Amino acid sequence: MNSSDQVPEFSPRLDAFLEEMLHGQLPNTGRFCGQCYTPIASSRDTCSHCGRSTSEVAPLEHLPLSIIDVYIARRRREGLAVRLTFYTVLLIGIIVSALVIGFLPFWWNVVAFTFALGASYLLSGNLANTVGDSVGYRWGQRAAERKWQQILLEERRQSGQGVQG
Ligand SMILES: [Zn+2]
Repeated sequence: MNSSDQVPEFSPRLDAFLEEMLHGQLPNTGRFCGQCYTPIASSRDTCSHCGRSTSEVAPLEHLPLSIIDVYIARRRREGLAVRLTFYTVLLIGIIVSALVIGFLPFWWNVVAFTFALGASYLLSGNLANTVGDSVGYRWGQRAAERKWQQILLEERRQSGQGVQG
């Protein structure tokens, strides 16, 4: 187990592996770096992410549950930020469209409303992918951090060391 108090940094390979595993496409078995949990091909003996060799840090056959929990907490928060951005922008778009068409003659209304709705939808998607994504990244990191601290606390409690500081 990683003894550091910092939440481990997930490498892109570990991210991809967890994503597929949680979708049931991969079992939680393989060969993982004992330092950063990145999957290591059986033909290699160094981690492509942190560079540790398997003789330095023994590789793991399964990802620890704590790492999976941290990943889930992070992804959930990231998804929330993206969805929240999407629907907030869409709602604002609909309200603005409704206000604008109040000032237009009827047939223009229909055209303007359709157009404004389409534009809002595109804008929402765009902002969700940019703003929502970067907000989500920060939220996700914080959620992962919290989860990690919880797990460490739990582990210390169970190992009977008590909590210091
Ligand atoms: Zn590694």
